[in-house]
Amino acid sequence: MTFHATVLTLYPEMFPGPLGVSLAGRAMAEGKWAIDIVQIRDFAADKHRTVDDTPAGGGAGMVLRVDVLAKAIDHAREGGASRPVIALTPRGKPLTQARVRELADGPGVILLCGRFEGFDERIFEGRAVEEVSVGDIVLSGGEPAALMLLDACIRLLPGVMGAPSSGSEESFENGLLEYPHYTRPQEWEGRTIPEVLRSGDHAKIASWRKRRSEDDTRSRRPDLWERHTGARVQSASGAQREVQDD
Ligand code: SAH
Repeated sequence: MTFHATVLTLYPEMFPGPLGVSLAGRAMAEGKWAIDIVQIRDFAADKHRTVDDTPAGGGAGMVLRVDVLAKAIDHAREGGASRPVIALTPRGKPLTQARVRELADGPGVILLCGRFEGFDERIFEGRAVEEVSVGDIVLSGGEPAALMLLDACIRLLPGVMGAPSSGSEESFENGLLEYPHYTRPQEWEGRTIPEVLRSGDHAKIASWRKRRSEDDTRSRRPDLWERHTGARVQSASGAQREVQDD
């Protein structure tokens, strides 16, 4: 089954962009995913093809008109009502690897890219649109965020990544950051590769990697670590109760 992406944007020339190259580009050529672009401006009603207007209540910038957005979304939905519509916005739910995995397992996505100050809020009330953020940063438009989301999905599609196992051990897949990697040369500017990785002892290597993954998550991402240990404490206390019950 082909993963089908429809992107609603004011800048169609930004696609497929980097997704036409390398892994994603090859997968597209092989028919594993497909993209079509909808120019939001085509749904403007006036002869100047206006898509934005000044913000109600005043203030800087321009806001994307709800009537134009709705027509563009309705048009995109005609081609696949089963695909979720996702608007890229810093006000959205932070994108996670778990959500990316769900999307990659589905038929595809319809992505709505904002510009200017963003969307008229009523679009989220009038249409089923999920709001997603790609991080606590502000981009000038939703297009790079859409490219990010698609890249993350495409690499998970069946047959796209070289080694199937390289997906499951990665950062976030088990709630932790991945352990660090090394390769030749064995010595570089006086720095060597950790001895254990050269030992050939697979059990020792696995436990070193597990420890580094945990240590690095604890120090770099206390937020992830807290969630991870919270989940573990819960399951451990469940196990303890079972033992006490005996
Ligand atoms: N005024 C808005 C920012 C608008 S940025 C605010 O402060 O919330 C213009 C467009 O860029 C947005 O409509 C959105 O589509 C996109 N964008 C910016 N940052 C983003 C982020 N972190 N995640 C997803 N999309 C983002």
